[in-house]
Amino acid sequence: MNARPALLLVDLQRDYLRAAALYPPAESVVHHAAALLTAFRAKGLPVLHTHTLVRPDGVDRMPHWRRRDHWACIKGTAGALPPPAVAPRDGEPVFAKPFYSAFGCPDFETTLRELNVNTLVLAGVHTHGCVRASALDAYQAGFAVWVADDAVGSYDPLHAAATRHHLQDRACRFLDVATILRETGLPQPPCDAEETASHTPLLPVGWIDGRWAPGEHHHETVTRRNPADRSQCLARVPMGGEADVARAIAAVSAQQSAWAARSAEDRAKTLHAWAEAIACRRDEIIDLLMCEAGKPQREAAAEVDYALALLSATVRSLASKPMQPIADGVWTRSCPLGVVGVITPWNNPLALPVGKLAPALAWGNTVVWKPAIEAPRVAMLLIDTLVNVTGLANLVNLIFGQAAPAQAMIADQRVDAITFTGSLAVGRQVAASCAVHSKPLQAELGGNNAALITPHCDINAVARDLVEAAFSFAGQRCTAIRRVMVHQSIAQPFADAFAALVRKLPVGDPANPATRVGPLATRASQQRIAAIVDAAIARGATLLSGGRIPAHLAHGNWFEPTILQSPNHDDPVVQEESFGPIVVLNEAKDFDDGIRQLNNVKQGLLAALYSDNAHEQQAFQNAAQAGILRINAIGQRIHEQAPFGGWKASGLGPPEHGPWDQAFYSRPQAIYGKPRP
Ligand code: NAD
Repeated sequence: MNARPALLLVDLQRDYLRAAALYPPAESVVHHAAALLTAFRAKGLPVLHTHTLVRPDGVDRMPHWRRRDHWACIKGTAGALPPPAVAPRDGEPVFAKPFYSAFGCPDFETTLRELNVNTLVLAGVHTHGCVRASALDAYQAGFAVWVADDAVGSYDPLHAAATRHHLQDRACRFLDVATILRETGLPQPPCDAEETASHTPLLPVGWIDGRWAPGEHHHETVTRRNPADRSQCLARVPMGGEADVARAIAAVSAQQSAWAARSAEDRAKTLHAWAEAIACRRDEIIDLLMCEAGKPQREAAAEVDYALALLSATVRSLASKPMQPIADGVWTRSCPLGVVGVITPWNNPLALPVGKLAPALAWGNTVVWKPAIEAPRVAMLLIDTLVNVTGLANLVNLIFGQAAPAQAMIADQRVDAITFTGSLAVGRQVAASCAVHSKPLQAELGGNNAALITPHCDINAVARDLVEAAFSFAGQRCTAIRRVMVHQSIAQPFADAFAALVRKLPVGDPANPATRVGPLATRASQQRIAAIVDAAIARGATLLSGGRIPAHLAHGNWFEPTILQSPNHDDPVVQEESFGPIVVLNEAKDFDDGIRQLNNVKQGLLAALYSDNAHEQQAFQNAAQAGILRINAIGQRIHEQAPFGGWKASGLGPPEHGPWDQAFYSRPQAIYGKPRP
């Protein structure tokens, strides 16, 4: 059947788009919906809008809104209006609905029939609410229904994941905007705002079944630029899809039982050889980390060392006997899970994947890996070294891309477990999808780490420590200190000492060994950080230092190390992880108030105390809600055998590293009788 499509934009109104937990974020939903809208309009294809509109007296609100005294989308208010990019034009029908489905409006279906369309393309909010209701009604009315996967959003990830699972099995197809445009013969929007140099190399889409799979047939690519010099295009990275993931999973599944059948000693030898191969390419890796991620040289070198330490700790862990007696005729052993899906962020593109791939392999699993696309050549080097030393092509397969391949991996029943590291927002989506597909998940998520500074410490020494802890790698470390609470009696001298050091921080080229603060990884991060600072100041925060894009470094993604003071402890600048060079410095009335502020966020990755007072140290240890505590020890390196995991919203499942890896990467089995060795 040839598609004769109409586009329906659902509830793209400011009141709905304001929801803090909306995912994808409102800007992204609107951006993708606007791309569809532009293409439909350019071709003269029908566009319809449906909005929730409530009378000013509120009597026509849905009963549960009335019950909860909820007011939104009131006719004539700014909240009822769409953002300009998706606003209706003259002649485009707008259907005002009081409830969920556009089909609840008397003329809606008749209008579609008159337009002689057979396919309804849906974009808007919320996936689990009005989008779902409209999709089901359109299906029942006999239309083909396409939901624009990247142009719909929801604040309820579990419900949205279940909706997607339910609908795509029955009523509709979920396609990204690029695919919808292709299938309807509409022009693609430019894939990159800035022009990509024609000689920029196109990378493979991944390492799939023993070869670097060519990226030529992949329509969507993302151009990676040097964070320190945006005019330099490093690579075009093709975005993999379901078919790539399916081939990769088939390849690693086929390898798994033979790999698991090898002795632990043999697997340990292989991992040891992998570590040696990585060590041999140390300088090359440091260069790649500086160039692709903008990581300053000293930290790039530290990342290589940490990756090697993690690998050797994994090798040592394999020395323990696989079969253990626990009583007469009763044994336990740890068995592989099978295929592990690994999803990693960009900021530690070497050590973080190594910290997952190594234990997964050690425990007899094979892996399908979806790295972040910001440092693609680091990922390729890891695969090359592994394949070279093992001669085994399918221990690990890799697919480049963003949400789509990661979600395809989660949905595939041949993948037995998922380990994810990334932001809270994406972690919630991953957790929801894993719940829908009953898949075990280990998730290490964002932090919003705090340091509490009491009068019982050396102010200048603490300021020196904290400058590093907050601003090295431009604050793009999950363990970076983002909030500092200082006892009021020393608040002013501490702020003076801290700000003076921050202003002196060497900001510049990552390849210069003296540099402490390099650029942010992407232009989008730089703009995001600038927007966070501006919005915080507009809401009442005070700027103590920094706050701008340094003019002399405008060719790259730098942002000045910034200190803010926020009187409102519930303000987003205090509550949300910025993942950039921003510290919020606030006063604490006393020790208890400091602890209260420290715990007053949803995250719980790391907390630090500066105090020489034994009572305070004890109280901190008892009260601080975080997976990692530092007591006068901010500079001490993260140990490869200590548990690394967030509490509260910062983590799910067992922590990483050391003996805790076994808890996630293997499953225990009890054997009664006389087992074979
Ligand atoms: P991110 O959450 O944006 O992306 C992480 C990974 O998820 C990437 O591979 C990305 O492509 C993929 N992804 C994106 N959308 C997805 C979706 N809908 N479904 C499935 N996968 C999806 O994070 P980032 O920007 O790459 O990294 C920064 C974040 O990672 C920060 O929040 C930081 O605190 C966190 N982080 C945490 C730790 C830790 O151990 N706790 C370590 C490093 C980084």
